[in-house]
Amino acid sequence: MNQASMNSVLLRKTEFGDFDYILTYFTKELGNISVIAKNAKKSKKRFSGKLELYTVSKIIYSSGNNGAMPVLTEVTLEEPFENIRMDILKLAFASYWAEIITSWIQANNPQEKIYELLTFLLGVLNENKISPQAANLYFQVHFLKFSGFDPMLSKCASCGKELEKSLKNFRFRFDKGGILCSKCCDFYNGSLSAVNLKQLLWIRQNEFETASKLRFSVKNIKDCTSFLSGFLSYNTGREFNSQRIINCLETQGL
Ligand SMILES: [Zn+2]
Repeated sequence: MNQASMNSVLLRKTEFGDFDYILTYFTKELGNISVIAKNAKKSKKRFSGKLELYTVSKIIYSSGNNGAMPVLTEVTLEEPFENIRMDILKLAFASYWAEIITSWIQANNPQEKIYELLTFLLGVLNENKISPQAANLYFQVHFLKFSGFDPMLSKCASCGKELEKSLKNFRFRFDKGGILCSKCCDFYNGSLSAVNLKQLLWIRQNEFETASKLRFSVKNIKDCTSFLSGFLSYNTGREFNSQRIINCLETQGL
């Protein structure tokens, strides 16, 4: 039986039978993988406190025989990020990022930059370096960049011409993939202010490690994330449950 060791973030945990869990990890080396943690519900000693969602761990698992699911054998916890699980809004954002990654990234498809982005921003979220909403804006911009689904923000997404610098608002269209010039905007999904557009371009052009320098207003962050949430949902063809929870929590002022 072959064994493999991976750096990983636990993204999904599902009960399986009376004793086991099926776990989906996002690994640095292989992208998403699913493993079974046998007797994890029964045995407090072996995996105790090590199978919490959004923790970073080194895991060892043995490959399953004849196509069976790999079996988790050892977990070394590296980043517990316990503050995330004590705050319902932080938990909702971590859950949103996990949903995007599990729905978009294929198994056995390494995505090292996205792994680094996720682990970095979970740390930012855990340590309150910026607001959860601002961390989410960073996640959306850089996730789209690294996954190759970047919205077109620097030219008209329809005709390819330069955007007019005099415009104060720019309309966008999801099926065209971004912002439109004034000649191509008869049909559109929404609009972004020139300030919002500048912010998005600034975040995109800088490394995600600049996240703690973000000083944008709450409204600007909200407008930008609303555009990117719509863009992500359009391109994945799904509404994310955790996005609905975030909207609900924010409406209640939590
Ligand atoms: Zn155009």
